[in-house]
Amino acid sequence: MNYIAIAFRFLYIFLFINNIAFCQFPLTAFERNPQSSTTYEECIQFYKELAKKSKYVSIVEAGMSDVEAAIHTIIISNQKEKNYIDCKKNNKIVILINNGIHPGEPDGIDGSMIFVKELLNDKSIHQLLKKITIVIIPVYNVGGMMNRNNSTRANQNGPLEYGFRGNNQYLDLNRDFIKCDSRNAITFAELFQKWQPHLFIDTHTTDGADYPYTMTLISSQKDKMNPSLSSCMESKITPFVYAKMKSLDDEIFPYIDFEGVPDNGIYDFMDPPRYSSGYASIHHCMAYITESHMLKTHEQRCKSHIRILHSFVQAANQFYRDILDAKTKSIDFEKSKKLYTLKWELDFKRADTLEYKAYAIERPINKYTNSPFIYYNSQKQTMKKIPFYNKHNAIRQVKKPKYYVIHRAYEDVIQRLKANGVLMIPLKKDSLIFAHFYKILDYKTPKEPYENHYLHSEVRVEEIEMRKKYFIGDFVIPMGYATDRFVIETLEPEAEDSYFAWNFFDGILQRKEYFSDYIFSAQLDEIFEKDPSLLENYQKKLKTDSLFKSNVNMQLNYLYSQSAYSEPYYRIYPVAKID
Ligand SMILES: [Zn+2]
Repeated sequence: MNYIAIAFRFLYIFLFINNIAFCQFPLTAFERNPQSSTTYEECIQFYKELAKKSKYVSIVEAGMSDVEAAIHTIIISNQKEKNYIDCKKNNKIVILINNGIHPGEPDGIDGSMIFVKELLNDKSIHQLLKKITIVIIPVYNVGGMMNRNNSTRANQNGPLEYGFRGNNQYLDLNRDFIKCDSRNAITFAELFQKWQPHLFIDTHTTDGADYPYTMTLISSQKDKMNPSLSSCMESKITPFVYAKMKSLDDEIFPYIDFEGVPDNGIYDFMDPPRYSSGYASIHHCMAYITESHMLKTHEQRCKSHIRILHSFVQAANQFYRDILDAKTKSIDFEKSKKLYTLKWELDFKRADTLEYKAYAIERPINKYTNSPFIYYNSQKQTMKKIPFYNKHNAIRQVKKPKYYVIHRAYEDVIQRLKANGVLMIPLKKDSLIFAHFYKILDYKTPKEPYENHYLHSEVRVEEIEMRKKYFIGDFVIPMGYATDRFVIETLEPEAEDSYFAWNFFDGILQRKEYFSDYIFSAQLDEIFEKDPSLLENYQKKLKTDSLFKSNVNMQLNYLYSQSAYSEPYYRIYPVAKID
């Protein structure tokens, strides 16, 4: 045998051994039957076996879910890092993939299992893992995953069985990242802090209009993001992933959010931090949501998810240095940033133009309702130019203080801030603090609850200066850290997802003391003697406000609220801002 023949024989043996190793990886439910999807138990067992067979895989319980079962993380690494500090030492990018937040949309769960097997079988894995550590949450909404059925995804094309969207509190966990009503969300916050990922991908399936694309993609809203992150996404990662998917004959499109029909134009999704991508991006992480389409088969959707996960990993490999730099710049920028935007508005005057592959829209008459309905004719495909409204304008900004101060009595808020890595220093002694405070002037509250809360909106405040007593053990939150954006988004009451909006401070919206009108009426001489300006204002109001003049209760309430007897902290948002 000559040397070339010997070399070939060694190569053959090497490939054979590798192939046997791959074959030994367990088959997934999807591989056994492309119409089926894994259960929670089978999924965890699969990754445990993978961890036994591959030196690159480990499985860790990240924390509890809302049932007696853990949320796991699958770590794919060549150096067994345990957290972001280890990864930082090894100059690694961390990619976090979240699956099964909506367990009725399971193709990311099944797709990730095969994605990992393919990755382990790829000969370039060792090279890849020199730069990247991949952390996968195999199933996030564990309770929802266990509620299996085959009907709740009304129009979805398979699989045969899947979990339910809500958790066991009937909550949508993709609205829970700030308010954290579920145990899952606290676990997520802790694992997010533990890994501090550079790139985040949350896998979903969408309903809505019908079109030829199997996969659509949401990128966290660019105007709201730190510019270094959004420019890295917009100029590098996103175009790479689009081109890669096209080269794999699986062309993708931005997520199709529209009114009427998509042909009139689509809107960019403004993702406040209650959503996974909005949450990730305020923690300096480039975030994407994959949305496969419900009318494609489970097999098509799984395969598309496998392709897009590989595409993201390849993008991270290609733009490794840019991604590392973007995160560092984002954190540095945040620490010194002075002004923060609390409210955004979509700009309908500015739009990009996209080439959209559309199914022809027909409007046949339904014989039962006798009215037209939209029918997307997949046999007639056309190319259309449509506007993409993807620019938002800042409409309300706020100055960052040097410190916030909060009573330890707000335990729920403090637990959530701590889980998100916010530095909090307890006061060593009781202190009378002179600071800026917000008086809550107005807000709207819906009649119907939304995700366990009566979410306030259109909050209006007035900034005042006053003294307020804080006590030993209350917390000072110094600003100038990577978590500043999270603190602003949650502690500034006008922010869309603030803890005020989510009802954590509703106690201040009701008076705790009151007055007896018959005694108060008899005391008015004394009150006016001590405060003549109150009498002056009262008489002015009687002259100018006819309703006020005719309503004695309104008059007494007014006098009480303006008098020294009125409690000072009613409607005063109790978080001090110190400049
Ligand atoms: Zn979803």
